[in-house]
Amino acid sequence: MKKILLTASLCATLFALHAQKSTTNITALKEEAIKDIDGKYQDYKNISLQIWNFAEVGYKEQKSSALLKQTLQNNGFTVEAGVAGIPTAFVASFGSGKPVIAILAEYDALPGLSQQAVPEKKPVAGIDAGHGCGHHLFGTASVAAGIELKKMIEAKKINGTIRVYGCPAEEGGSGKVYMVRAGLFNDVDAVVHWHPEEANRVTMTSALANKSAKFRFYGISAHASASPEKGRSALDAVEAMNNMVNMMREHIPQETRIHYVITQGGKAPNVIPDFAEVYYYVRHPKREFAVSIFDRVVKAANGAAMGTETKADYEIIGGTHDLLINRTLGEVMQQNLQKVGGIVYTPAEMEFGKKIQSTFNYQAPPINKAAGIEPLKTVIDAGGGSTDVGDVSYVVPTVGMEAATWIPGTAAHSWQAVACGGTETGTKGMMVAAKTMALTAIDLFTDPVLINKAKEEFKKSRGDYQYKALLGDRKPALNYRD
Ligand SMILES: [Zn+2]
Repeated sequence: MKKILLTASLCATLFALHAQKSTTNITALKEEAIKDIDGKYQDYKNISLQIWNFAEVGYKEQKSSALLKQTLQNNGFTVEAGVAGIPTAFVASFGSGKPVIAILAEYDALPGLSQQAVPEKKPVAGIDAGHGCGHHLFGTASVAAGIELKKMIEAKKINGTIRVYGCPAEEGGSGKVYMVRAGLFNDVDAVVHWHPEEANRVTMTSALANKSAKFRFYGISAHASASPEKGRSALDAVEAMNNMVNMMREHIPQETRIHYVITQGGKAPNVIPDFAEVYYYVRHPKREFAVSIFDRVVKAANGAAMGTETKADYEIIGGTHDLLINRTLGEVMQQNLQKVGGIVYTPAEMEFGKKIQSTFNYQAPPINKAAGIEPLKTVIDAGGGSTDVGDVSYVVPTVGMEAATWIPGTAAHSWQAVACGGTETGTKGMMVAAKTMALTAIDLFTDPVLINKAKEEFKKSRGDYQYKALLGDRKPALNYRD
């Protein structure tokens, strides 16, 4: 009896020692990752600024994608390019076996947001697009984290496979949806991502499901004054459709968001337009509502065509799911974000920041907000925007964060965001993200219990829903920015 007790207590001691040793190891690995990534500050700054200068819009990110692929290849990754039928998409991989941890990278810019790295509105001559969503930082930080994890796998400090997913056209192009649809995430155990912002926080807010389409109307041209009775206006159809949709707003759930722009409405007032096009987004916190309300918008298009004696058709442009939050992974990422810490600006950056804040037409938060980390707060069924990360979150447990790459108070998709992204205030936020993602991945690589717990939570929140892309079986809309 005594012998058994002794053995049991010896076991307990050994177990405790082992646990202590592995915690020490993980702490050491994390310190190493922070040091390594910090050591490459200049390299990553240069890469991100090159992509900032390329400012390539969705599906046209040839140079940006090539630079990230090359960087990964130079660091020993195997890169599969042109995945899911998208020339600028890629999957870079290193290592073998389980777990498979994926990091998402984005790199598309936004049209009409050209801006220099100065605290006043000043476009770059001859350039239209700008990185108003900071995706140049997004892509670079994800590559940086990937390279660090690769180094650890190579040194046999961790085991498994690290992948960096090069995801084009996040801004309206639904790039990741095609990658999910192609099954590229099927063997992935967990996904880590981030997004540039004006504060440091783990993203525990869901996103709006979004279905978008271009509605096209075909009428008959005629002289608008001499023979109007011979013509049928495609622009009238667009206006009739918009009127109906605007009336519909009273009869849909109030969390719905519908917005449109008229992308073509004719060229001269004296020519009845025989072609017109309107581009719609329909969003709702719940996927099934976004889809059913979209179907009602299609009815308005058909009704408008009937009443104006024109013809209508439409092309689905994008479709993204809402975002499944994973609290298990969120808590782990929060600890890592706290360990990495926020951003301290130099006096010159403070000066820059104050100038940026003076251009807001609203009250700016304190500039030192960037130094702090926000507490973990889960918000379900909300979220101002949409993201194709939503689709990823429906097939793999997914966790994300935001880092203060923009002076606090800066709105995404603004010239101020582009300006910040072109300075070291952007670089500093990017480094916070790179380190936090690497640390979170270290936890995932070293703790199978964590992955299992995350998967359990994921299964619970997804329920028995079988993933189906909202954009159906259409091919990637490679020319949606034309
Ligand atoms: Zn974005």
